Amino acid sequence: MSEQKGVTIRTALQEAIKKLEAARVPDAKAEAEFLLTHLLFLKRHELFLDPERQLTKKESELWNSFIERKANREPSQYIIGETEFYGYRFKVTPDVLIPRPETELLVEEAIKTASSFKGEINIVDLCTGSGCIAIAVAKEIKSSNVFATDISAGALKVAAENAKLNSITERVSFFEGDLFKPLEGTGLENKIHLILSNPPYVSTKDKEILEPEVRDFEPASALLAGDNGLEFYRRIILEAPLYLLSGGYLIMELGYGQADLVRSMAEENGRFASIEVKKDYSGIERVFKAQIKQHEL
Ligand code: GLN
Repeated sequence: MSEQKGVTIRTALQEAIKKLEAARVPDAKAEAEFLLTHLLFLKRHELFLDPERQLTKKESELWNSFIERKANREPSQYIIGETEFYGYRFKVTPDVLIPRPETELLVEEAIKTASSFKGEINIVDLCTGSGCIAIAVAKEIKSSNVFATDISAGALKVAAENAKLNSITERVSFFEGDLFKPLEGTGLENKIHLILSNPPYVSTKDKEILEPEVRDFEPASALLAGDNGLEFYRRIILEAPLYLLSGGYLIMELGYGQADLVRSMAEENGRFASIEVKKDYSGIERVFKAQIKQHEL
């Protein structure tokens, strides 16, 4: 039997790009290069230094499965099993939402806000998912203790692995349950400096307009939030005052067009002062921040 020659990097890329374009995958070329770079443990420019290098049989098999999955519109982060957030590596599986770059703004705001406190800082992260917010703030704020909750046991398993991957298991703990529920009885009431959350905020009626990568692959329970997308904001605003210490902050990520509605909820609640909303790099009002009024003595 004649030894079959392996496909070269050049051909592998050309064929993959054709397939992805036929499947109407956005950014087919960039996606193919990203996936092959990862598969071969190369840097992107190295793909072009040795275009005649042949893929081994094993590499070819893996490559074919990568491209088949990508042609199906699966997010590349699930295909390679990881992503980067705030400069840290995170494992991602279909049990968790893929961390988005705009969520880094929430982390930045949390770090800035934390610097106004002295000593140890207690932080709660609700709907932690992959643990990206909890872990990034724990890494960046050395004096912090982070308590992260999620209703999904599958997500918490990934989050715990991510804490290990980033060597930060000592100052981040994970609790399974609905929002604040698993923190009941832990004695954290009135002790939290910052409550952070990127909760689900897509309305059920907007589900159909999501990109297939999001709608068909990311966990619906991490995305959808009732008829108007505000369900979690309403509950978090209601329960946060019980856990925040005097002068503590609630910082949440917002979905497109939700800023005014969430601001009104916080105003009506009456316990919050100095409500601010920060825009992301696309000019969308993305981060909500409110300080709890000083407790009356
Ligand atoms: N930002 C995500 C999206 O664009 C939604 C994330 C969320 O619901 N928290 O689909």
